[in-house]
Amino acid sequence: MIDLKDLRDNPDKYRDGAKKKNMGVDIDAVLALDGKHRQAQVEFDRLKAEQNLLSQKIGKAKDPAERETIKQQAAAMKPRLKELEDAGRETRVQLDQLLWSIPQPPDADVPVGRDATDNVVVRHWGEPRTFDFKPLSHIEIGKKLGLMDFEAGAKIAGSRSYFLKAGGAELHWAVIRLALDMMTREKGFTLLSVPVMVRDNAMRGTGFFPAGREQAYRVGETTEEGDEVRFLTGTAEVALTAYAAPETDSVTLTEADLPLKLTAASTCFRREAGTYGKDTAGLYRVHQFDKVEQVVICRNDIEESKKWHAEMLGYSEELLKRLNLPHRVIQCCTGDIGVKNASMLDVETWMPSRFDGKNPASGYGETHSASRLYEFQARRLNLRYKDKDGKTRFCHTLNNTVVASPRILIPIIENYQNADGSVTVPEALRGYIGRETL
Ligand code: AMP
Repeated sequence: MIDLKDLRDNPDKYRDGAKKKNMGVDIDAVLALDGKHRQAQVEFDRLKAEQNLLSQKIGKAKDPAERETIKQQAAAMKPRLKELEDAGRETRVQLDQLLWSIPQPPDADVPVGRDATDNVVVRHWGEPRTFDFKPLSHIEIGKKLGLMDFEAGAKIAGSRSYFLKAGGAELHWAVIRLALDMMTREKGFTLLSVPVMVRDNAMRGTGFFPAGREQAYRVGETTEEGDEVRFLTGTAEVALTAYAAPETDSVTLTEADLPLKLTAASTCFRREAGTYGKDTAGLYRVHQFDKVEQVVICRNDIEESKKWHAEMLGYSEELLKRLNLPHRVIQCCTGDIGVKNASMLDVETWMPSRFDGKNPASGYGETHSASRLYEFQARRLNLRYKDKDGKTRFCHTLNNTVVASPRILIPIIENYQNADGSVTVPEALRGYIGRETL
């Protein structure tokens, strides 16, 4: 949610921001509705004050006839007051609806562009391996070594489903455990086990609704017995970010509580609406996967947010370095950072089976996404803290992938394959798996 006052004061910032993000939002319609709402509020307040004055006069009037006249004057105001109140409520709902959809303007240092093709490479790490034999895809290796079963996945769960088996499942949990150990033991993050089925409020509050509603699986029904509709989350970002938000208007955090550094492994569910026919084979784009997520909730300070963004991105890169996986960091352009982000950087990891043999960029596939959101989620969630001077302020929020599996199994299996068909277990995972090859 953006700041309505800031929108009134700087409408061009939001017009320009939406344009850069290629999002058609009508800022003038919001301003017009806001003007209407405020005008009605002014009239309501004026009439209410007049009515209060008349009530005082009734008490003081000695003459019964005079009292009756004043009473009638006060009563005559009622219908207009009611009308203004109802209209105000309705305008507020309409205004809120529009405000929920206004994108956060991108930061000035985010390159302007239409889509992912305009993203900018920031740095590379590691040399993609050249093979002295014909490398196989993770699908072929998985089949030969019995690491995964797509047929059983399709039979039991439909398209974009899979089973991981034996060494495949061991690799999956090993990489999740490595990520959790790194975040909790070395980076000081608090581990949470989170709900993956949440209310509409949590999805809205974290900015996944209203835009993006079509990506979430909806479960259950609202019934008289107290059941309610809920949504399966596509990331632990939802629960981790909404976790500290108060249920009422209270402010429960102080500056001393910040930053909150939270991590969780969660099963993620995505409908992948709009990706029909894209990445249909293998483990790249599936409906259900596991992800270790990192969330930081910090003070309302742009420089501190930027520092955390770089730090959190560094943790993901560190994990990939430990796995010795070549990767590159991408600054996403304005058209590719979505409604809620002020800036976003992706990490793409080298996946030999994606390489077209000519264009090196084709071999990198996205494995991580680091977002900087400033107050955007905190305003929607009413997530605030008292600063050192006792002033109430909105927190800043950030999030990033630590690791998402099974997508990360693609570069692990494909980069670590051997000519004899075996796969070497990366050194960083051997302690979890207990052997050197699969
Ligand atoms: P996102 O939250 O969309 O930025 O995604 C974070 C990470 O989750 C991505 O970089 C991928 O590693 C992984 N991921 C996202 N969607 C899928 C999917 N449909 N299938 C497998 N992995 C995914």
